[in-house]
Amino acid sequence: MANHVITATATMLEEMRNHYASDITGHLPAGALFVAKRSGCTITAYRTGKVLFQGKEAEQEAAKWMKESDQKEAPVPQPPLAAASAIGSDEVGTGDYFGPVVVAAAYVAKDQMDAITAMGIKDSKLLTDEAIRRLAPSLMNMIPNQTVILSNPMYNDWQRSGMPQTKIKALLHNEAIGKLVKQLSPIEPEAIIIDQFIERDLYFRYLENETNVVRDHVYCYPKAETVHIAVAAASMIARYVFLQEMERLSKEVGMTLPKGAGAQVDQAAAKLIQTHGPAILEMCAKLHFANTKKAAQLAKQ
Ligand code: MN
Repeated sequence: MANHVITATATMLEEMRNHYASDITGHLPAGALFVAKRSGCTITAYRTGKVLFQGKEAEQEAAKWMKESDQKEAPVPQPPLAAASAIGSDEVGTGDYFGPVVVAAAYVAKDQMDAITAMGIKDSKLLTDEAIRRLAPSLMNMIPNQTVILSNPMYNDWQRSGMPQTKIKALLHNEAIGKLVKQLSPIEPEAIIIDQFIERDLYFRYLENETNVVRDHVYCYPKAETVHIAVAAASMIARYVFLQEMERLSKEVGMTLPKGAGAQVDQAAAKLIQTHGPAILEMCAKLHFANTKKAAQLAKQ
C-alpha cells in the first residue's frame, strides 16, 4: 500500500481538518490530531505537522497539499542584486589564533562597478597577501568603506562572558554597516549584503538588544562575494586591515605571528610564553582556541 508523508504548517493542518471534516473518524492513534477516511485514502495528521496519506489514492490526495506546502517553502525570489548600488560586508580573523577580528563594510555604487571589476577586485581568499597589499589602498580611496577591529583583549572578554563567536560577528557586522550607512547618508544603498556566517533570522535575533540595528534591505548570502562585488571589496579591505594589525602586533611582541591555527601557531605561542610569560597571549591571541593548551604544553618542554 502506498504511503505518502508531507509536512504541514499549523495553518495548513487547520485547513486540512476543515477540508476533511465530513470524513473524520473517532479513532485517534497516539500523537494524532485527526484521522479522516475517504474511499481510497486514509489521512492521519500528527501534532508534529507530519501528515500521513495511506491507500491507493494516497499519492493524488497528498499531491493536493504538497503543491501548497512547496509554494510556502519556496525561497523568496532574489532581486537583481548584482546590479544594485550596494553595501557589502565581510569578516576576517575568526579562524586565526593570533590577531583581531576585522569586519569591513564597503559601498559600490552602480557607476563604479566597472572600474572596481577592472581593478581585479575579488574575494580576498583568491588573492595573495601581496596582491591585497597592492590593491587595497587604492580600493579604499575609491569607495566609501568602514572597518571595525575587535582587539584580542576585547575579544577574550566577550568570549569569556559566554558570547558565541557568531554573535560576536553579528555585532561587528552591524556596527561596520551602521557606520557606513551613516557616512553615506543621505544616499541610501539599494541593498546591504552580508557574506553569510549565519541565517538572516538568527543574525537579527543576536541584535535584539542593540539600540542601532540596520535592518532595511539586509540580505545574507553564502559566498556573497559572487553575488555582489561590494562584498568582494569588503573582504579585501578586511583582509588588508587584518594584515596590518598582524604586522603591528608582531612588532609589539617582537616576533612574526603566523596566521591560521596550525602547528606553527602552537610553536610561536609557546615561544611567546617562554619569552614573556603566558599573560602575553591575552593581548595578541584568541585564548579559547585549543592552541592555548597546546602552547602551554610545548612551553614546558
Ligand atoms: Mn566571509
